[in-house]
Amino acid sequence: MKEMYDLIVVGGGPGGAIAAKNAAELGLDVLLIEKRQEIGDPVRCAEGVSKICLSDHIEPDPRWICADLTGSRIYSPDGTMVEMSEEMSGGEVGYVLERKVFDRALVDQCARAGAEVRVKTRATGLIMEKGVVCGIYAMYLGEEYEIRSKIVIGADGMESKVGRWAGIDTSLKPTDMETCVQYLVTNIDIDPQFCDFYLGNEIAPAGYLWVFPKGENMANIGVGILGSKSGDHRAIDYLDKFMRDVYPEGRIIEMVYGGVPVSGPIEKTVSDGLILVGDAARQSDPITGGGIINAMEAGKIAAEVAADAIKKGDYTTDTLNEYETLWRSTIGKEIEYSLVVKETFIKFTDKDLNHLAQSLSNVNFYSLSLKDLLYALFKANKKLLWDLRGLF
Ligand code: FAD
Repeated sequence: MKEMYDLIVVGGGPGGAIAAKNAAELGLDVLLIEKRQEIGDPVRCAEGVSKICLSDHIEPDPRWICADLTGSRIYSPDGTMVEMSEEMSGGEVGYVLERKVFDRALVDQCARAGAEVRVKTRATGLIMEKGVVCGIYAMYLGEEYEIRSKIVIGADGMESKVGRWAGIDTSLKPTDMETCVQYLVTNIDIDPQFCDFYLGNEIAPAGYLWVFPKGENMANIGVGILGSKSGDHRAIDYLDKFMRDVYPEGRIIEMVYGGVPVSGPIEKTVSDGLILVGDAARQSDPITGGGIINAMEAGKIAAEVAADAIKKGDYTTDTLNEYETLWRSTIGKEIEYSLVVKETFIKFTDKDLNHLAQSLSNVNFYSLSLKDLLYALFKANKKLLWDLRGLF
């Protein structure tokens, strides 16, 4: 087995796969390792993704698209519904994916671009010399061995250890993450063209409940609540109640548990010889918890910066900081914006949510620009304008 590469990518999720693919296309000698034996399985995702952003990274393929949506509907605690077009709905509405197939298609792309892929291979530590990352310790079939590289990309998801091994603080407090549980439910009557979001403290405290269609009569139905709110009631208690109340005829055929970072990004995402991308860098959206697109965008930027650094022969933090600058000035701006909105949103009472929804229920989101929407929103909600003053 080869023991030296230009780049090792740890983690075969969307962030790692896009990083490895782009780096291989830029001529780097790349190894992607994934600890699981099958890419994409088990799935820990509601599988919603924006079409526009996705097509920057992969050609849409019916093999991994379960539903093609036209928009989303948001329900406030008193049942007031606000309908939005796909464009207005944000990064999680567009397609509902079959992630088992999608993640594998991404890794297939990266293997075809020339990257070597090793599954069932777990990174157990970083090789560090004088504080510089120069490879990984990996475990394969019970045996540990060293693999060296000029740069390592840590794309090891929510439970990331790679950053911590390099001395980067990636810790999350209960207020920094949403605890999620989701069922794949069949035998239900749903509109296959809309994602539904339900808000309210009785439904999902400081979070939301989602119904993402996966074709006819089937949907991912899940709930995320802020870690600090899971006291007397667990996320699953909220989900079970919703199922009993709204979809008593539903039959559960799969179940997913998982955490989503909603902290906003960590302070530092590079160190000498190391770059972190995706959930490992806490780049998911603090409001929705969606992270597929951001992980892919960050993976692409990381690959470009790694290729430049390798061309220069300089893998120090100073050079890799270009990654920090580039992602913070693009996806980072949106994350910052979402963080401010989230801090306001988690303080809303059910009354605030109802008032907000009522003020938007007659707005036609299909013919409205974002500017018009903000104007309509703030005109009806002076308090909201005050709470979100940090954004202007
Ligand atoms: P992951 O997809 O988590 O990939 C990390 C990979 O690294 C995994 O395959 C893991 O096995 C591997 N790995 C970890 N440690 C090691 C190691 N030591 N060695 C080797 N391999 C390792 N996002 C959306 O955009 N839309 C949604 O609808 C959505 N719904 C969600 C619902 C739930 C319940 C949850 C939990 C998350 C949801 N997300 C959603 C978030 C989304 O799943 C993540 O943001 C996205 O998968 C991040 O991609 P990633 O590549 O950074 O990490």
